[in-house]
Amino acid sequence: MSLLNRHYTHPRSGLTNTEMKCHCTQSKANVILLRMIQDELPMLSLPDSIDLLISARWIVPVVPADQVLENHAIIVHQGRILGIVSQARAAELQARERRELPNHVLIPGLINAHGHAAMSLFRGLADDLPLMSWLNDHIWPAEGRWVSEAFVRTGTRLAVSEMLRGGTTCFADMYFYPETAAQVAIEAGMRAQLAFPVVDNPIPGAQNSAEAISKGLRLHDDSKHNELISIAFGPHAPYTVGDETLIRVRTLADELELPVHMHVHETAFEVEEAVRQSGMRPLQRLRELGLLSPRLQAVHMTQIDDQDLRLLDDFGVQIIHCPESNMKLASGFCPVQRLLDNGINVALGTDGAASNNDLDMFGELRTAALLAKGVSGQPTALNAHSALRMATLSGAQALGIAEQTGSLEPGKFADMVAVDLSALPLQPVYHPVSQLLYTCNASQVSDVWVAGRQKVRSGQLQLADQDGLLEAVNEWAQQIQIGDEQHDA
Ligand SMILES: [Zn+2]
Repeated sequence: MSLLNRHYTHPRSGLTNTEMKCHCTQSKANVILLRMIQDELPMLSLPDSIDLLISARWIVPVVPADQVLENHAIIVHQGRILGIVSQARAAELQARERRELPNHVLIPGLINAHGHAAMSLFRGLADDLPLMSWLNDHIWPAEGRWVSEAFVRTGTRLAVSEMLRGGTTCFADMYFYPETAAQVAIEAGMRAQLAFPVVDNPIPGAQNSAEAISKGLRLHDDSKHNELISIAFGPHAPYTVGDETLIRVRTLADELELPVHMHVHETAFEVEEAVRQSGMRPLQRLRELGLLSPRLQAVHMTQIDDQDLRLLDDFGVQIIHCPESNMKLASGFCPVQRLLDNGINVALGTDGAASNNDLDMFGELRTAALLAKGVSGQPTALNAHSALRMATLSGAQALGIAEQTGSLEPGKFADMVAVDLSALPLQPVYHPVSQLLYTCNASQVSDVWVAGRQKVRSGQLQLADQDGLLEAVNEWAQQIQIGDEQHDA
């Protein structure tokens, strides 16, 4: 059962939280009203001594929307957020640990809603190529030769270290040996959705789609009681998975109420080929097969016509936008503002490091915001608060975990990131959220918590057993480079 008190009425103003949200965006005066009554927002009952109290110069809770709280403190107990109070009120509380963040902005942990973590070992292997030649001539041969459980273990550890250090507390992964990636995420204490890959051809770890599905379902069973891990079906793309397999995926996903994570409409070529071969756009085919639903996470969607837009809206499909990967592979542009204007949820992902080439969500956020303006011709498109929401709450909604994470609300897990805004290149600070979007980078992340457990402290990763990771990565890199040179020769 959720601890969230989602609908409440404020005792003095008589406003519901939804009304307060609307008021918040209506006028400056109402923003001030909201700040004044914030101290009185309901919170979960406090124990005699709380685990952690963090005082920050600014807190951006994401819910209520568009709000920046100055000189407040967040109360964390048993891994969850109990409430946000003024620093004056916080001074009266007993806490086992207190943290002062006088120059920092505290935000919800970032959610990287699409990637292929272990592909970090292929970072920079093949650049400046179109999607099909990048896949056919470089990535798929390299995967065929190198991918093993050991590869996935080292590659995912590399990715998890980069993501946590850069303020990402949750990632959605789609790669081979998902049970190994899940193990790495659990060891690191990071939240993850593992989409187990399903394609018609043999893949590393599964001879056919039936074996991939049965192994994936076993992983789902094994992970059921782990609060950090969720499992999704990962049919790679409409052009790599036939109707029969997709129907099986749909039937099982419906029965188990699991998400389906899939690359859809990544390029114009994909859509044109599908129309040529079947007379249908891929999204239309997914509709015929019964796959469109709020549990479908459609990654990329760079090609959207009016009919596609209606389908996405009618079925409440989740969109995962990967702007840097789309730009690097010249795949096209997802019309983010148009989707948002139609009430469609859009999350943000980096895609794998082989097509990005980093997993830096701050970089991705800035690219997304700038690209949305360029594509729509509107400088107001995807403003700073909307972009931050896309990388936090909208990500949680897309992955179906918004009751657990995505905003700094009482009852949710304390997945939080502090960004230090004291450095000279960040001065002066008029609007901290604008600074996060348009000026900051991942290296300014100072502290990261997942479910209240500290993963980065004063810029230092707090993971056990980091020794040896760099050596293991270098060993793989040497082998892969020699193999790539032989392949090219
Ligand atoms: Zn991808």
